[in-house]
Amino acid sequence: MPDISPILVWFRNDLRLHDHPALSAAIESGAPVIPVYLHTPEADAPWQPGGATRWWLHHALTDLQDQLAELGSKLVLRSGSHPGELLEVLMRETGAVHIFWNRRYEPQQVQIDSRLKKKLPVKSFRGSMLWEPGTVTTGSGDPYKVFTPFYKSLQKEGDPPEPLATPKGLLSPDSFPASEALEEWDLLPRIDWDKELYEQWTPTEAGAHEQMETFLDEAAAQYKSERDFPALKGTSRLSPYLHFGQISPRTIWHEAKAHAATEGGGTGIEAYTRQLVWRDFAMQMLFHFPHTDLHPLQEKYADFPWLSDDAALKKWQLGQTGFPIVDAGMRELWSTGWMHNRVRMIVASFLVKDLLLPWQEGAKWFWDTLIDADLANNSFGWQWAGGCGADAAPYFRIFNPMLQSKKFDPSGSYVRRWIPELRDLPDEYLHEPWTAPSPPKNYPAPMVDHHSARDRALEALNNLKGEN
Ligand SMILES: Cc1cc2nc3c(=O)[nH]c(=O)nc-3n(C[C@H](O)[C@H](O)[C@H](O)COP(=O)(O)OP(=O)(O)OC[C@H]3O[C@@H](n4cnc5c(N)ncnc54)[C@H](O)[C@@H]3O)c2cc1C
Repeated sequence: MPDISPILVWFRNDLRLHDHPALSAAIESGAPVIPVYLHTPEADAPWQPGGATRWWLHHALTDLQDQLAELGSKLVLRSGSHPGELLEVLMRETGAVHIFWNRRYEPQQVQIDSRLKKKLPVKSFRGSMLWEPGTVTTGSGDPYKVFTPFYKSLQKEGDPPEPLATPKGLLSPDSFPASEALEEWDLLPRIDWDKELYEQWTPTEAGAHEQMETFLDEAAAQYKSERDFPALKGTSRLSPYLHFGQISPRTIWHEAKAHAATEGGGTGIEAYTRQLVWRDFAMQMLFHFPHTDLHPLQEKYADFPWLSDDAALKKWQLGQTGFPIVDAGMRELWSTGWMHNRVRMIVASFLVKDLLLPWQEGAKWFWDTLIDADLANNSFGWQWAGGCGADAAPYFRIFNPMLQSKKFDPSGSYVRRWIPELRDLPDEYLHEPWTAPSPPKNYPAPMVDHHSARDRALEALNNLKGEN
């Protein structure tokens, strides 16, 4: 029996072995290590994982269990209402006197972790962001609300630290405490809607690294010019892996830079690493402005006269608006749990400005259906689209779904892939099927006239312009 007390390593949004500072530090201490994951739906309310992220979580945990088993270790699963109580029970059962974790930054998680730090022997580490919120501030000490100066300021910090190696082994206690069975948590859907998810994704740590390597080899050099075209595989699709921490952002950062140095493609890579910093920016916004998950950052938008129209919301959710690029995006989301960034911006603008429905409704739908649903990125993206967030789209910027479709899906292959009803329509009508001599009968007519909807939105937004 080792005479040193074991360390509990609490895995949270860092479901990986590579570049896991808390795990590496626990191993280096020479103490036996007990990896733990806690399922605490009540503590996570109101932002409990949606249907799609529950699917991913199940597989990410299975993968972590398997990887730890290969090292002769075990992931101990416990569920309950309060993480603190669960940790205290585990400390009593195992004799552990230390808990190690990597820091989290969502407001509710910060509150939980700060409370726990006051009563439990916790050591925390930096591992989930390139730079932690608060690393840089404006000259007056305030958080940045505009991306470019935030980015420039971070560039002066130099590169984030190099990632840590995957551990080759770890010391285990003589016996592990009892674990619940993952299946008992019922994370997988009861009805069979997840077939396409299995076809599209490999939700494991190895899957994350493969995805990164494929992207760096095949697409990163062209990222700057191709990232806006949803029919191309022009972006990394690493967002769900980043959300669950199956790959660390600094691993991607350093791999991308090393790739640029050896293989060329510098401007593409720089555009890409810059995008990773948007993730830090979104998190620092939520960290400093904790109410912005559901409340507009710009206060004047709190009184915006949003409409309430369940039937219209449903049409948007189901991809039945009659605007091909909007419907293609919403159907891609439903089938694959993911949507291309350009299309996220288009469908969000459509909901908020063409339909005048609240951005919070869009955020909630995305939360339930995206496999990368992430509180910081999702709130930030929706506030951006609604014009009420940081560095947001100006209120008069209203995406024209027909022009966006022509510009970013010129051959129509994205629209045709997701809307079979339009597959045989000639290119010239594809982006505005209602202009065809005989529009397809099985595809809806546009639910609004974009030009009058635009005028209506501008009028409502103009009324707000002068306030504050
Ligand atoms: C309305 C709306 C909602 C969104 N909701 C989410 C969400 O819930 N989860 C999520 O991860 N992203 C969200 N985004 C941001 C962005 O669309 C996705 O991160 C991106 O499409 C993921 O694809 P990718 O990994 O191929 O991105 P890449 O282009 O390959 O970028 C690499 C990584 O950088 C980060 N990133 C890229 N763009 C952004 C951005 N605009 N804001 C913050 N981080 C970014 C992501 O972590 C992404 O994985 C949202 C955007 C909008 C407009």
